[in-house]
Amino acid sequence: MAVYFIGEEESGCCRIKIGVAKDIEKRRSNLQTGSPSELRLLGWIHTEAAFELERRLHQQFSAAHVRGEWFAIEPADILPILRRATSEGFVARNANAFQIVGYDRDAVPEYLGVWEWGDLEIDECCPFCGCLCGMAFQDASQMYHCIRCDALTDFSELSHRHNESEG
Ligand SMILES: [Zn+2]
Repeated sequence: MAVYFIGEEESGCCRIKIGVAKDIEKRRSNLQTGSPSELRLLGWIHTEAAFELERRLHQQFSAAHVRGEWFAIEPADILPILRRATSEGFVARNANAFQIVGYDRDAVPEYLGVWEWGDLEIDECCPFCGCLCGMAFQDASQMYHCIRCDALTDFSELSHRHNESEG
């Protein structure tokens, strides 16, 4: 089971539903059917104690309660919760993560982050599965390793690959 966070796009994801589901994407599309605005999955936490965590979070945000499982909170409010879950916490990854969006004054490329709604440190979140495990640096390979999906990366390959496909 997982506790999921689904945001309402029309209000700039300022309304977030906190619920429990086994199949999060199925739940999102079911919710979408009855909603006039676009619903976006922001993140989720895998846990055996999903209902307990859900209850705690509903309590934590009770002052911002809107209706049902919807709360007037922002992605910035749920990021600390996802971070605390470490390897059980996931962000819904930006499809264009690591796309170069511009260059700073020193001509250093600036990349689109993994998470659309907030800035994460580059080694904090796996760019492949969105896990907040905190990519561990491996001396042997000189690469960062995701304990969740087992990906190895030095992050540079992502931007290179993207550039090639652009060219
Ligand atoms: Zn991963």
